[in-house]
Amino acid sequence: MELLKQRILKEGKAQGNDILKVDSFLNHQIDPVLIRQIGKEFANRFADLNVTKILTIEASGIAPALMTGLELGVPVVFAKKSKAVTMDESVYSTVVKSFTKQQNVEIMVSKDYLKSDDRVLIIDDFLARGQACFGLIDIINQSGAELVGIGILIEKGFQPGGREIRKLGIRVET
Ligand code: 5GP
Repeated sequence: MELLKQRILKEGKAQGNDILKVDSFLNHQIDPVLIRQIGKEFANRFADLNVTKILTIEASGIAPALMTGLELGVPVVFAKKSKAVTMDESVYSTVVKSFTKQQNVEIMVSKDYLKSDDRVLIIDDFLARGQACFGLIDIINQSGAELVGIGILIEKGFQPGGREIRKLGIRVET
């Protein structure tokens, strides 16, 4: 995606050695035109997989997941990081070590929105050490649904997440 590459080169800022800040179009302010293009790109790349559901994690995964879901015509579910009073007890949950916040967070998805006959595509903003993806994979496994692929906007190839997930035979597009 040349469009995304150019945007990172133009507006991205390195923080220390291993963090890329892209708050101007993805992580704080969102450029809907760019994210819609990215949604179209993911929808094309995963078009042949009969996806029935997109799964992401709040907050920054939601925008690209929504645009991908819009293109594929399937619902988008996001794992929550805190339990709302409206959520009942029946959730799948797991613990994820947050890369940017350096803390463990419990993420959860209601059992109502992930079923054993779902074919799930994970969409997220960054792939670093893979913790967020492994957490979502754990939740998919708990539900008995099938993971058909993972689409990430920005993979930091110098960190091991992408390599480790691909080693498991999972299709990862970044
Ligand atoms: P991982 O779980 O793969 O180690 O890290 C992925 C998660 O951490 C992403 O969902 C993203 O929120 C955050 N993250 C990891 N690296 C970066 C980065 O360089 N920049 C930003 N903005 N977020 C990152």
